[in-house]
Amino acid sequence: MRRVVRDCCILALAVLMAGCGGGGTGTGEQRVCSADTFVPNYVRQLDQLLYWERFPVTVYFERDANYSDYYRTLALQGFDQWVEATGSVVRYREVSNPDGALIKVYFKPDTRNGLTTYRYYPSSGRLVSATIEIGVQGNNPIDIRSIAAHEFGHALGIAGHSKDPQDMMFATYTTNVPLKITQSDLNTVKTAYCSYFLNRTRTVPLPSDETPVEVTIVCGCGD
Ligand SMILES: [Zn+2]
Repeated sequence: MRRVVRDCCILALAVLMAGCGGGGTGTGEQRVCSADTFVPNYVRQLDQLLYWERFPVTVYFERDANYSDYYRTLALQGFDQWVEATGSVVRYREVSNPDGALIKVYFKPDTRNGLTTYRYYPSSGRLVSATIEIGVQGNNPIDIRSIAAHEFGHALGIAGHSKDPQDMMFATYTTNVPLKITQSDLNTVKTAYCSYFLNRTRTVPLPSDETPVEVTIVCGCGD
């Protein structure tokens, strides 16, 4: 399976078959909202809208040579924008052990851009794991916070970009201008997790023997 998505400044997007299985059985919620439930949004502009089965989602910061507490603090401030915007429907829990962490975060000193890779079950869109790379070149706290917030938006399931430059999930950013979550950004995430917002849930079996696929979204072009 191979698919290429082009966006303003997406440099590359690789779709790879993930090597491992990890299907799992059980039940879960299926989204029952359409793109018309919470408007305005940019659901139809996306490649896909994915979702985590439950919150809080676990987050681990890789303690490699590029890690610093300062970067971590900035990144968490970016992540928290989504927590606040969703009234804590979106929640994360930082863990000190990478084993089992659903979202892993890396800092990259050689770029001002960001990148998110995730694995998901293609039939349901349920996320399995995600990796966020946050470019910290330039050491600009406004930009680092914004890149983190943008990449966390991808990691929450926004697989693609908005075409509106005002939106947090527009593909590029202007340095020194803080990114903010717009109503369209919020409504797009609400569509992914509509059962939390509408109390309309439907329990369906999850795929048992499905192999997750892996997608990488490259973002940025900050100058
Ligand atoms: Zn992006």
